[in-house]
Amino acid sequence: MCRFAAWAGEPLPVAALFEAPHGLEAQAYRPRLLRSGHVNVDGSAFACWLDDGDGTPLRYATTRPPWSDANLLPLARRLRGRMIVAAVRSATPGQPGGEDAAAPFVAGRLAMAHNGWIEDLAGETGKRLSDALPAAAQTAVTVRTDSRLLFAHLLALDAEDPGLPADVLVERLAARIARMLREAGVRAQLNLAVADGGTAAAVRCSLGEPPNSLFVAEGTGALPGGALIASEPLDDDPAWQEVPDGGVVVIAPGRRPVLRAADLEVD
Ligand code: GLN
Repeated sequence: MCRFAAWAGEPLPVAALFEAPHGLEAQAYRPRLLRSGHVNVDGSAFACWLDDGDGTPLRYATTRPPWSDANLLPLARRLRGRMIVAAVRSATPGQPGGEDAAAPFVAGRLAMAHNGWIEDLAGETGKRLSDALPAAAQTAVTVRTDSRLLFAHLLALDAEDPGLPADVLVERLAARIARMLREAGVRAQLNLAVADGGTAAAVRCSLGEPPNSLFVAEGTGALPGGALIASEPLDDDPAWQEVPDGGVVVIAPGRRPVLRAADLEVD
């Protein structure tokens, strides 16, 4: 199971999310709360909104774990953002590899990461998810992983009702996919993070499976000056709070995190 993390606050070097005491680098080889798999070494990536007036995030992705990529950490130490999403990947068995499969994925102002899996991706369920996409969104499925299909659905939702904030989009995305998967009678884990440069939000959602972990913190000793969302805490600070199953958490620079129950019937 992949691990993702998001930041909203004072400009932070991207590397802080990887190099925090239990940051994504440590979570790649020694995760504490993984429900399946053992390590997250099938890819690493980040999306960062720089303070350059451009509303679209910069993405860097590699098929390697953080410590064995020549560029990830050197770049991440120099790049700072008020909003960042980063992740390390543990490929779901049977799903393809490659840089395009390493979340977060970006398009326009949006970035998305996924921690989980969808049953029967290679069968009827994957076909239904794919067939439900408008042609323009199909192009986002550059590799056929469940996460990229989810990303394509996010872009389809955004095109239907342009400009919605990330927290509304993540809730609608989870609701739409959960409805389709319930109809198909398959299991899934759908912890999803979406960010738009102004807001970052994540939902903790699963169907027929125990949910993957998800946490929020309003700054920690190692990472002060902002709010954090993470699959598992990036340090041992007591500020980390577990997001309940079916919850959505929203962070934005200069604001306190908001935690509420997700409306999974909003589709
Ligand atoms: N199923 C997704 C992938 O293979 C996410 C995997 C995960 O959360 N471990 O990339």
